[in-house]
Amino acid sequence: MFARVAVNVSVISGLFDYAIPNELALQIQAGSFVIVPFGKQTVQGIVTALIDSPAVENPKLIIDLLDPAPVLTQPQLALAMLLADSTLNPLAAIISLMLPVGLSQQADVNYELRITNYEDKTSTVTTRLLTLLRERGPLRGRQIDSHFSRVDWRKTAQSLVKKGILTTKHVLPPPRVRSKFVRVAQLSVTPEAAEAEMDSLGTKQTLARRQSALRFLIQQPEAINLSWVYAETGCNLADLQELEERGLIRLFENEIFRDSLERTSKQVEQETGTQAFELTSEQTSALEKITHSSFILQPSSFLLHGVTGSGKTEIYLRAAEETIKRGKQAIILVPEIALTPQAVRRFLARFPGQVGLIHSKLSEGERYDTWRRARSGKLKVIIGARSALFAPLPNIGLIVVDECHDSSYHQGEPPFYNAATAAQEYARLCGAVCVLGSATPTVEQRFAAENGTLTKLTLPNRVTDSALPPVQVVDMREELKTGNRGIFSRALAESLAETISRGEQAILFLNRRGTATYIFCRDCGFVLKCPNCDTPLTLHVGTFERSNVPTLLCHHCGYTRQKPKTCPNCSGKQIREYGLGSEKVEEEVQAMFPGVRTLRWDWDTTRHKDAHEMILTHFANHQADVLVGTQMLSKGLDLPLVTLVGIVLADVGLNLPDPFASEKVFQTLTQVAGRAGRSSLGGKVVLQTFMPEHYAIQFAAGHDVNGFYERELDYRKQLGYPPFAKLVRLEFRDADPLKAESDSQKAADKLKLRIETENRRQTELIGPVPAFFSKVDGIHRWQIILRGPDPASLLRDLKLSDCRVEVDPISLL
Ligand code: ADP
Ligand code: ZN
Repeated sequence: MFARVAVNVSVISGLFDYAIPNELALQIQAGSFVIVPFGKQTVQGIVTALIDSPAVENPKLIIDLLDPAPVLTQPQLALAMLLADSTLNPLAAIISLMLPVGLSQQADVNYELRITNYEDKTSTVTTRLLTLLRERGPLRGRQIDSHFSRVDWRKTAQSLVKKGILTTKHVLPPPRVRSKFVRVAQLSVTPEAAEAEMDSLGTKQTLARRQSALRFLIQQPEAINLSWVYAETGCNLADLQELEERGLIRLFENEIFRDSLERTSKQVEQETGTQAFELTSEQTSALEKITHSSFILQPSSFLLHGVTGSGKTEIYLRAAEETIKRGKQAIILVPEIALTPQAVRRFLARFPGQVGLIHSKLSEGERYDTWRRARSGKLKVIIGARSALFAPLPNIGLIVVDECHDSSYHQGEPPFYNAATAAQEYARLCGAVCVLGSATPTVEQRFAAENGTLTKLTLPNRVTDSALPPVQVVDMREELKTGNRGIFSRALAESLAETISRGEQAILFLNRRGTATYIFCRDCGFVLKCPNCDTPLTLHVGTFERSNVPTLLCHHCGYTRQKPKTCPNCSGKQIREYGLGSEKVEEEVQAMFPGVRTLRWDWDTTRHKDAHEMILTHFANHQADVLVGTQMLSKGLDLPLVTLVGIVLADVGLNLPDPFASEKVFQTLTQVAGRAGRSSLGGKVVLQTFMPEHYAIQFAAGHDVNGFYERELDYRKQLGYPPFAKLVRLEFRDADPLKAESDSQKAADKLKLRIETENRRQTELIGPVPAFFSKVDGIHRWQIILRGPDPASLLRDLKLSDCRVEVDPISLL
């Protein structure tokens, strides 16, 4: 018997065949997590299939099996291979997305000093490395990495190995996470039998304690944590051991699941009873189609296109209910758990005790336990951001992608992939229904729905009688002409005053993409930039420990400095801020309406755990009148008391050199506008702009999703962008700008040659050029864009020097 194995070595993408030792023959199957020899190393790997005849003669033996149960299901394995191929990522990189952090470990090299008193002052790297190993003893490569940021110490180490000063050994660290056990006690005889022994349990000193321990355990229906028994009865371990020796109780270990939800879900159950309402006829018809599809052999993928507040979430809930009834499980993807506490609460309340939450704040242990409970089928619903797609549920019946247009579904770091696309593939592999839901689907999703790849379901109306709120567009150039230099137009100021005086709530939205409060010199025009990233620094007052000292911050790398008193360029004194931050907006509101209660929801106010939830709960409970916020406001919140949405500046982002810029602005504006007027109180939107004639602004102002789609599709067609062509972006990074440029040039030459030899007339290479963010954190970036019917196929077996390959990028910045 032989097994084909995907080895967990980050750069290796192939599969390798191994022989299965007899003692493991019955246990190893597809999806098994094994240890195998690989070259000189010992590495982890996943069995992808059992095979009869290996591709090589005398394959090596599998060393060990790490987990008796498979760690990947069959559909997960199939998805991993499919994604690795379509996204050009190494298979191991995709598989590691599916394993909980801490379980998967990569082989490493252990470095040890052989000649401890060896001195070599030829380079600082050598000196530092030798000192480190002398002080700390043998270290693994990844441990040494943390002492040398951005320095290639490995070359130095290699030359020391050659000279015999260092020795190396390949090692495989053990998994960091384990199952957790607690010691418990349980009665092992009938209560009557225990009572009968009650008076003969010990001497004067011990009797009372042992009696109370036994009485306590008589009353417990289940095994109970020892620390509880101690706390409740005052007994100690010796007492319990004595009771065990007398055959009255049993002491053993129980596996427990670390559950971050335990507290929240109990709270939610107490707060909200399940309020059942009748579905509207539109909802009913959409739900029926989804349910019907789930009965057939090859269910559909749906695009549920419903305006904000049309009751999409209710449809997800009922579809999940149906799925569970039929013994299957559901995955619900949301853009970001912290930003969507309302949706999460609705699921917790509807399916108490059956929901697993996957989010970035889970500890490794909690993540591991949620993963294992998902694998065992104990959890019926998994909710989380994009990575929740990879929870190993055994029998998936439904996958929902809420707010499917959201850019957070695209992983912007290697391995690049898009969870909204992957969800459709995965559903197909599982025989499950997939539902993508949004008020503003992407042009590509919409195109797929118009052309039959996705089945379209529409909810054109809000559930409540309220219509979508009217949008008043204010041309800020006119405001300037009439001498109003403030942040707020007269229209917005008046609307705010009315809303506040009526005791209703307002949201002020600040589109921050690409701008913030930056600092410049009014004499010479010098702009203060980050020395590492070349991005303008932004001003913050009162956010850092130095509280009231104005601090400048780089949002890319976190670099901070104090605001200078004079211009570093011309020494002029006129150094001022320009632009607009949410702090500034909040200040203005407070100055204009003394006594108004404001809340700010942005990057700075939400660094603490649970901050999002606190801000939202505060606002939903009407403990504030005005909420000032950024992009976070566009993620599907349901705030019935909001009657005014003010978009302080709509055009930010429209002028960025990116073919997807208009679409993103349109989506954000439409989503934010949709926060207003969700109750019978009605509502309106005031949208301030310097570009009132731009089509993204115009269509957003009219809630005209269809109009925008037609117009944008036309633009994409003319310029040859998706869905009419596919894109691949290659990025070259280096601390040396010349190296980044020459690497990208070499790759471009290779690719051009290939395009020519394969006679791909429709495939085009754009670049190489410096990326829009051309220097981040001291590293220079160059990029190449490939555009054509299938540009990824050009790269499938091409070796390019170290570059990041992003198939179907969602931004070219
Ligand atoms: P969406 O997800 O489309 O923005 P939601 O599902 O959040 O819409 O619904 C908006 C509001 O309407 C929620 O408060 C929800 O509880 C309520 N709702 C949904 N469906 C119905 C219905 N059929 N009858 C009454 N209220 C409903
Ligand atoms: Zn920086």
